[in-house]
Amino acid sequence: MKLVGNSILTAKNITKKYACGHKAVDSISLEINKGECLGLVGESGCGKSTLARCLLLLERLDEGEIWLKETPLHEVHRGTIRKARKEIQAVFQNPTASLNPKLKIMDSLMEALDFQKDIQPCFFNGFQNDRLKKAEYLLDMVGISKTYLHSYPHELSGGQKQRVLIARALSIEPSLIILDEPTASLDVSIQAKILNLLKDLQDQLGVSYLFISHDLAAVNFMSNRMMVMQQGKIVDECTKQDLFSDERHTYTRQLLHVFES
Ligand code: ADP
Ligand code: MG
Repeated sequence: MKLVGNSILTAKNITKKYACGHKAVDSISLEINKGECLGLVGESGCGKSTLARCLLLLERLDEGEIWLKETPLHEVHRGTIRKARKEIQAVFQNPTASLNPKLKIMDSLMEALDFQKDIQPCFFNGFQNDRLKKAEYLLDMVGISKTYLHSYPHELSGGQKQRVLIARALSIEPSLIILDEPTASLDVSIQAKILNLLKDLQDQLGVSYLFISHDLAAVNFMSNRMMVMQQGKIVDECTKQDLFSDERHTYTRQLLHVFES
């Protein structure tokens, strides 16, 4: 059994090859601790989303191990996958693609809770059996009026849709949310609002995040500790304090140059 400290998720030497033999993820190890936001930055095509999909068990690993606390997720087993689905949620880049256009916001929002009926998050204390109240509470958490519960996705802006998806991810009280470019498709003016919301929610709930972006400024804003990915590999790892140090990898310095220009 793996020894656990503060770690929520530990990945060891994960490798994922596509059919062509290309290693999109090449022996990556990482650890995400309770309540922390680990940042992952790298340019488009370097393998960030593939790594996210591996951690979400949406891809079969070619090599490596993934541990959710003391549970080995790489040993594929139905019970293990069920546990992981509850504990690890995700928010992706394109909110429109993540919402069923035919479902009212109420039903999209409650999808995860409706599916995992045994979960009773502590923030629903007092109204566990009232589906409408739970939905209203979730929307309120992400700053959306309850009047939208009966709307369809096309009636909401991109930022509002992403808020709904953040609420859905939080609804089953996961230990970890993988945020894969959660603001990349939004207007610049909305991006900072969503990042601030994510930070506030983390402070309130103590959930861990893996925050993935091609934008070093966004990763630096969100995370105290970050990893830099290039062509499937982690080439650098640092804390926020060390980001500007002379020891940084050449590639990190290139990203910093874009960020500062
Ligand atoms: P990022 O999220 O950093 O932009 P991706 O993980 O989406 O990177 O892609 C990493 C590499 O893997 C890219 O070269 C991409 O073309 C390739 N890739 C992604 N998905 C597939 C797939 N399903 N089949 C084959 N190659 C893929
Ligand atoms: Mg991606």
